[in-house]
Amino acid sequence: MQEFNGIPVPAEGAQVRVEGGRFIVADNPIIPFIEGDGTGRDIWKAAQAVFDAAVEKAYGGSRKIVWYEIFAGEKAFNKFGEWLPQGTVDAVRELKIAIKGPLTTPVGGGIRSLNVALRQLLTLYSCIRPVKWHPGVPSPMKHPEKLDVVIFRENTEDVYAGVEWEQGTAAVKKVIAFLNGEMGRNILPDSGVGIKPISISGSRRLVRAAIRYAIADKRKSVTLVHKGNIQKFTEGAFRDWGYELVKTEFRGACVTEDEIWAGGGDGTVPEGKILVKDRIADAMFQQLLLRPDEYDVIATTNLNGDYISDACAAQTGGLGLAPGANVGDEQAVFEATHGTAPKYADKDVINPSSVILSGAMMLRHMGWAEAAEAIETGITKTIANKTVTYDLHRQMAGATKVGTSRFGQEIVRNMA
Ligand code: NAP
Repeated sequence: MQEFNGIPVPAEGAQVRVEGGRFIVADNPIIPFIEGDGTGRDIWKAAQAVFDAAVEKAYGGSRKIVWYEIFAGEKAFNKFGEWLPQGTVDAVRELKIAIKGPLTTPVGGGIRSLNVALRQLLTLYSCIRPVKWHPGVPSPMKHPEKLDVVIFRENTEDVYAGVEWEQGTAAVKKVIAFLNGEMGRNILPDSGVGIKPISISGSRRLVRAAIRYAIADKRKSVTLVHKGNIQKFTEGAFRDWGYELVKTEFRGACVTEDEIWAGGGDGTVPEGKILVKDRIADAMFQQLLLRPDEYDVIATTNLNGDYISDACAAQTGGLGLAPGANVGDEQAVFEATHGTAPKYADKDVINPSSVILSGAMMLRHMGWAEAAEAIETGITKTIANKTVTYDLHRQMAGATKVGTSRFGQEIVRNMA
């Protein structure tokens, strides 16, 4: 029997496979999960019950997830003496689709961030964050319902590649000497230095994933967000390679902003075509506040995407509700987008919506859309009924405050 970290994979489940870029999911798929540290324990318990209830409700027993626990973070360290055991990475590589709670980032030690490590080790190159408002959720915006975007953030390169040298070290002096000497630059000798690699292949696969998603989900536009006016050969190139891809691979499906205005055109997008446009990152932050309904799918580089995802989440009610996924050609890891919120750990108070909505994304990715819909309906109704956890309760007049597990039970009760 197959095992990872010395723990056998449940015999009653079937392995998810990937064939020709498609995930093939049996009726009893083995899905590995990482519970997560701190409040991960609270939210995972509530979330798993919601997932099982949604699948049962949608398919009446003909489909069932076979859960398989794998370990990362503090729980892994306490059990195996490692923050990210090789068995965990191998399990996700083999079993293809996984879901995780938040993980404590080890302070010191070799790993900068477990999440970044997982993304890079498994080449999970798209970080996908759908952001939309759920009726009743308190928001700082007058019309939070106008924002409904899906952000594709490049997940493996840019300043997250981890190529940097600390100020004062022999290594950074060597780098500065090379740049100032051989490359004719003028970097102050007391600098730290970081490198921002952006590749053609990395940019293309991310933009390709965003456009494919837009086509499959019948979205209206894809916006390439970049800082190409300043960083021409990285951010500017990302934009250029994105437009090139439109012409070489998606000519029939897409039209660009230049094309709809060219030759006296009136800016009308031809019926059934996806508009591909680009915006400079700083302007995009204004646009998302002032004209949110003009944006749909967003494809962007790693750091821009990090900022934009959290800013959009704030517009619609905060990180407690935002789901996320890290997806590559062969694997997909769905995750809560907030941290471990350790001060609330084991108190049964935290909002489990982020990991629950990430689970709904996972079910859609598996082709189990009916179960995903049941979850989304359950959450929307529960919040609309003003039955909420502390974070939403403190901003909602007349709401009933419930704990994590009770909130999960309400979601199940409110499923269509
Ligand atoms: P955090 O855990 O996200 O918590 C910051 C604050 O956000 C909490 O105190 C709470 O605010 C609010 N919050 C977060 N999740 C919530 C939820 N589910 N429901 C309601 N409110 C929620 O950020 P942090 O304190 O900076 O990080 C703690 C640890 O998590 C660190 O080790 C960090 O490295 C790690 N981290 C992990 C991930 C990940 O695994 N994806 C992501 C980010 C951070 P109030 O106190 O106002 O209630």
